[in-house]
Amino acid sequence: MKAIKIKKPVRSYTGEKWITNTTNKKYLAKDFENRCGYCDDWDRYSGGYNAYHVEHFAPKERFNHLRHTYDNLLYSCPYCNISKSDKWVGTTADECIVGNEGFIDPCTDDYYEHFTRDDFGNIRYQTPLGKYIYFELKFYLKRHSIIYNLDQLRMRRIALKAKINEKTQRGENVNHLKKISDMLSVVLCDYYELFLMDDEC
Ligand SMILES: [Zn+2]
Repeated sequence: MKAIKIKKPVRSYTGEKWITNTTNKKYLAKDFENRCGYCDDWDRYSGGYNAYHVEHFAPKERFNHLRHTYDNLLYSCPYCNISKSDKWVGTTADECIVGNEGFIDPCTDDYYEHFTRDDFGNIRYQTPLGKYIYFELKFYLKRHSIIYNLDQLRMRRIALKAKINEKTQRGENVNHLKKISDMLSVVLCDYYELFLMDDEC
């Protein structure tokens, strides 16, 4: 089992530094490495930076004073952001969990205790609270595993290309590596088509 996210995001500052979320978003994109804080989908597969949202962990509809507080903001894909909407189980902004329901900030270690990623790239919940979040944020959508696999293939192809270049420069035979690279390219195209064609993603 793998972690739900490649890397835990770290917010580069705290408190209220900028009073527009247009500015906050620029910093969030960098801190979250252009990946959704919740599902880890890379923004390039979903319309890019402009299509991604500034998500308010404690909803701005209920906690307006945290509207521009960086600690309360996340870079989020539209699917997770719209699914979460203004849902909040607590009565205060600090009360993010009640019993087995609520949400966890993905910038905390705790988030990673509740989810894993299986060998097919699907997000899996590990706890009752994880199950609540899984269904509330619709982690079951096929797009999350397709995007994960697309991205894994892309990164492996880049690494393989670098290896081929390195070996070619040393005058070594790279025929077998080129065959693997060609196979990866075919699978990458298949996944991309799947992503474009599946209306239920
Ligand atoms: Zn997401």
